[in-house]
Amino acid sequence: MAYDATNSLEAHWMPFSDNRGFKEDPRLVVRAEGVHLYDHRGGQLLDGSSGLFCSPAGHCHPKIAEAVAKQMTEYTYVMPFQAGHPGSFKLAEKISRMLPEQMNHVFFTNSGSESVDTAMKIVMAYWNARGETRPRFVSRERAYHGVNIGGVSLSGMVKNRDIFHATVPGVMMLRHTYDPSETFIPGGHSEHNGVELANDLERMAQTYGGNNIAAVFVEPVAGSTGALPPPKGYLQQLRKICDQYGILLVFDEVITGFGRMGTAFAAQKYDVEPDIITMAKALTNGSIPMGAVACRDDIYETVVGSSKRGLTEFFHGYTYSGHPAACAAGNAMMEIIEEEDLIQRSADLIPYFEDALMDGLKGHEMIKDIRVAGLMAGVEVHAEGGPGMRGTELQKRMFWDGLSVKFTGDNAIIAPQFIATRDHVDEIVGRFRKTLDHMLANG
Ligand code: PMP
Repeated sequence: MAYDATNSLEAHWMPFSDNRGFKEDPRLVVRAEGVHLYDHRGGQLLDGSSGLFCSPAGHCHPKIAEAVAKQMTEYTYVMPFQAGHPGSFKLAEKISRMLPEQMNHVFFTNSGSESVDTAMKIVMAYWNARGETRPRFVSRERAYHGVNIGGVSLSGMVKNRDIFHATVPGVMMLRHTYDPSETFIPGGHSEHNGVELANDLERMAQTYGGNNIAAVFVEPVAGSTGALPPPKGYLQQLRKICDQYGILLVFDEVITGFGRMGTAFAAQKYDVEPDIITMAKALTNGSIPMGAVACRDDIYETVVGSSKRGLTEFFHGYTYSGHPAACAAGNAMMEIIEEEDLIQRSADLIPYFEDALMDGLKGHEMIKDIRVAGLMAGVEVHAEGGPGMRGTELQKRMFWDGLSVKFTGDNAIIAPQFIATRDHVDEIVGRFRKTLDHMLANG
């Protein structure tokens, strides 16, 4: 859509944004294709973060465009409660084939945040069906689990929760796993403390009673707080303790799902099978809002089996759960992943990506740390003028220098599309460095 500069930007209250600052210096995308975005002044940008880790197959993939357009002529909306359409069943089946073996049930939502809150409710329904009361959830410092009230309650990011007081009670936090004394670790995974940090859960179980803890939520790689890979042994030890106390383990794979770690899900990369997985983003290549929650078969059986036939067994769902347009996009995306071998392409690009970042940016005087996990990296700059100030300024400047990158505080999260080539990776690193150099030279 063309940008009409006479239109006021005032009416749209933008999410997670400095509304006033943005509206004085708007940066609008008016077209996108493949790895490129085009801004309203006619400039071309390379997409260094796949949007918000959404579009690994590239922007405006024709197969998705066609599938959604066709869907819009067949049926555009179908009531999802006690009714349905073939697209959602087909998509759930395709997703379940990518999941760990015992996970063959998928509940549809419209976003990552809804997936997290849905997962919390599945956990509650499961324990209720088992006749147990488990009032506590466990999450982790520096976690991001979306913005709905359940996810905010699990959030370990202070700013995301400090003014929102009506959070879910009974959430306990594991320590985060980032050790600032260990920087630029090859492969991103610290050899130290993985088991010890996970043993926080053991201490909680000892203190509060393991049978009072319903579930542990973790991002296998904490994404939104700077791409923090788990230290070696951490996820495995969490699984072990969960098994010991019958606690459910939930992986929030909203970012890591569908290939970003070089495997379909991070669960496979780390060889740890959670009980529940949340997902969104790449599910439709970011084209239509959609999320999903997958759970182990026995969780589904327990919840669904808890009610007499003919009665609703899980009082939860969205008007747009399994929306036809989203399913059309999701089904097309699953085919693209297969036909274009996207997960393998991600896996193949990962070593080059890590080397390019380390060779091109390590040692730069503005860079504090680089952490690479799969095709995602946290590139942290030294803070200046207060936490996040420099990151916010850099995000703006990079945009006008032709690189779209997501900053969270002073961490850039670089996450190329899986269709990116080595040349694109070099270009991302080169442009990133150029903006840093320019800022150093000119303030
Ligand atoms: N969980 C994780 C791990 C995420 O990274 C995000 C979004 N970045 C969410 C949940 C929330 O997803 P959404 O913004 O689609 O609601």
